[in-house]
Amino acid sequence: MAEVESFALDHTAVQAPYVRRIAVEHGPKGDAISNFDLRFVQPNEGEIATAGLHTIEHLLASLLRDHLDGIIDVSPFGCRTGFHLITWGEPSVADVVAAVRASLAFIADKATWADVPGVDAISCGNYRDHSLHSAREWSTLILSQGISLDPFERVGV
Ligand SMILES: [Zn+2]
Repeated sequence: MAEVESFALDHTAVQAPYVRRIAVEHGPKGDAISNFDLRFVQPNEGEIATAGLHTIEHLLASLLRDHLDGIIDVSPFGCRTGFHLITWGEPSVADVVAAVRASLAFIADKATWADVPGVDAISCGNYRDHSLHSAREWSTLILSQGISLDPFERVGV
């Protein structure tokens, strides 16, 4: 089976919350695509409940695009401790952290149910499974802990 970088990471050595650049890949025409690990919860010590994670996902999909150019996708990890972020080009980790901070601050302080995009049966695959309350609580906690620029040391927090 193919080796996957994410499984080579020592999940016991990291100190969440952090943003980590996983890889930059180049297509046949030279275009760069970056893959980031947005780790919000310390692995194997906690996880965001599905409804809150789902609401954070919907909000990040919109909010991150307001703060960072070139976003292709942001999707939750199956372990529910964070998200993959895929972008065109090579934005810096600092730029990604700034965009995530601003997005979580909006969720924590300002977001109302009317701000959550795509929460009906037409635009979501499980629209009943959302929690803005949980999304706000987690966003507040993550921001209070600070988002590190380095996965192994608390940098820029
Ligand atoms: Zn959905």
